[in-house]
Amino acid sequence: MADSERVKRRLKEDRIPEAFWPDEWGEKKKRPKEIAVVDVNLCFPCMKCPEFCPVGCIEQLRPGTVQGRGDNQPVQVRVEECIGCYICVEVCANLTDYDAIRMYPTELIEQALDVEIGDVKPDEYHPARPWDEDFAEGGSFRHVGKGSRIVEKMNAEERARAGFRPHGRSS
Ligand code: SF4
Ligand code: SF4
Repeated sequence: MADSERVKRRLKEDRIPEAFWPDEWGEKKKRPKEIAVVDVNLCFPCMKCPEFCPVGCIEQLRPGTVQGRGDNQPVQVRVEECIGCYICVEVCANLTDYDAIRMYPTELIEQALDVEIGDVKPDEYHPARPWDEDFAEGGSFRHVGKGSRIVEKMNAEERARAGFRPHGRSS
């Protein structure tokens, strides 16, 4: 788990402008409104975002997980543990050339990945999976996450097709 003071200091030093700094770090205490997911095909990986994640829920995928990448596997978020702080999005966009992470409405993640996102970190470890069919370039949801300009231009029908519910934050 990341040390909160070190992470805050580095965010300041590296001028990450819009990252939300949780008052309390290192423990999930409520269900977030949004969850981060990595486009695994865009992730190098430089291994910067795992250093900054305040709850340590970004891990490198195991060798051979994404075909053709061998041992040089991308990272992915353990979605059940993410607290939705947005820091990794800012880190990847500002400290690297990859811009590989987006935020997505929690309900969309639950529906798309058939997972449950609760108020606290699950007791069991659920290893990160690539989710490349859904959240990589060409996938259903890559362009609808926070940080995407495309979602702002979508009409109601397009948003519904992309999985946004009428009462959802992003609809
Ligand atoms: S900062 Fe971006 S490129 Fe670097 S490991 Fe994280 S997702 Fe991958
Ligand atoms: S938004 Fe990113 S940095 Fe924040 S908890 Fe989720 S994976 Fe970690």
